[in-house]
Amino acid sequence: MLDFVDLEESLDSEEHLIQNSAREFVDDQVRPEIGDHFEAGTFPTELIPEMGEMGFYAPNLEGYGSPNVSETAYGLLMQELEACDSGLRSMASVQGALVMYPIHAYGSEAQKEQWLPQLGSGEAVGCFGLTEPEHGSNPTGMETHAEKDADGYILNGSKTWITNSPISDVAVVWAKDRSSEETGGDAVRGFLVETDRDGVSTNKITEKLSLRASITGEIGLNDVRVPEENLLQGVEGMKGPLSCLTQARYGIAWGAIGAARDCFETAREYATERDQFGGPIARFQLQQEKLAEMATQITLAQLLAHRLADLKERGDLRPQHVSMAKRNNVRMARNQARVAREMLGGNGITLDYSPMRHMVNMETVYTYEGTHDIHTLVLGQDLTGIPAYK
Ligand SMILES: Cc1cc2nc3c(=O)[nH]c(=O)nc-3n(C[C@H](O)[C@H](O)[C@H](O)COP(=O)(O)OP(=O)(O)OC[C@H]3O[C@@H](n4cnc5c(N)ncnc54)[C@H](O)[C@@H]3O)c2cc1C
Repeated sequence: MLDFVDLEESLDSEEHLIQNSAREFVDDQVRPEIGDHFEAGTFPTELIPEMGEMGFYAPNLEGYGSPNVSETAYGLLMQELEACDSGLRSMASVQGALVMYPIHAYGSEAQKEQWLPQLGSGEAVGCFGLTEPEHGSNPTGMETHAEKDADGYILNGSKTWITNSPISDVAVVWAKDRSSEETGGDAVRGFLVETDRDGVSTNKITEKLSLRASITGEIGLNDVRVPEENLLQGVEGMKGPLSCLTQARYGIAWGAIGAARDCFETAREYATERDQFGGPIARFQLQQEKLAEMATQITLAQLLAHRLADLKERGDLRPQHVSMAKRNNVRMARNQARVAREMLGGNGITLDYSPMRHMVNMETVYTYEGTHDIHTLVLGQDLTGIPAYK
């Protein structure tokens, strides 16, 4: 596998072990069937508990059954999962960074004890409800709201594009607390909403042309009652959802490299085996230029990801660092998947090879967790001090 500047040389034994075991798991259990799942628009749900046993959900958290592995190990894990399919990495990202992380960071002791072991083992599935039909890039405009009464809260609203909502046991729902007088009813709060509560619906979105091996749905909330204990007490305001997104985007910055690497390896192998004009197409300078550029771009993205891991490990990672890496690495993977597809000629448009599947998956990855444009604006503001969102 491409590791042009020997970054793997500095991995410790645990990081090597996690990388290798994730790679083996994916090769044995998922890769043979992933094209069929993509075509059918399904996720291999039977693997969810096995992925839990393998420690794929938030292994970088501490306690409650999580092994607290290094940020590099976590990144490598995301890379191996996405080398198979972005849908697989999305499953682990959402469960770990978007559901377990907020419970771990902001939940009560009872919430942590109830949910973290179940989610970590894959016995329960969670989802993260932020995006709404009318509020995507600007979630501060959200209309979903909570009203407090004597028994707890009543939630109303709708969320869309929610990974895993149709198979979830619990949803982390972000809503405005209308009863908070201090903030004029505008404070965003997080609620743990069990999906079997009266008034919750989780319809599946079926007509996707990207991230097909991932289940996506809506969350409808119609006078849903939750007790006060279901509130995430430890956070108020957009810091709540945004801090979770920083965790998930960190994983995406690593994961996208996996997709690009898989495209590169597929194209390299194909080019050495495919004969045209009396020999392998890999002997043509035009094809070598493509491989040279792909390898260079992947290596630059790897360097950025490794640096992010060091910054995260020592507590110096800023959300803007993550924006740069998510923006760059996903764009890189999106571009390189297209080049790899091209190198495979007609075969490149089939499900027999991974590049076109990665290529269309990257359309989602480019858009979710902050679109490429939005990360550009985050960086623009950081570099100039001037916000340009409006
Ligand atoms: C498969 C899939 C899974 C997802 N999973 C989840 C999930 O689990 N949970 C969740 O909450 N959400 C999820 N999302 C939602 C995702 O985060 C949103 O789609 C994303 O934030 C963009 O919002 P939008 O689609 O409403 O696009 P819009 O915000 O309407 O943007 C449309 C276009 O306008 C551009 N744009 C917007 N504002 C500006 C601006 N100020 N300046 C310049 N350009 C701008 C955008 O970059 C984009 O190109 C998922 C999406 C997909 C496709």
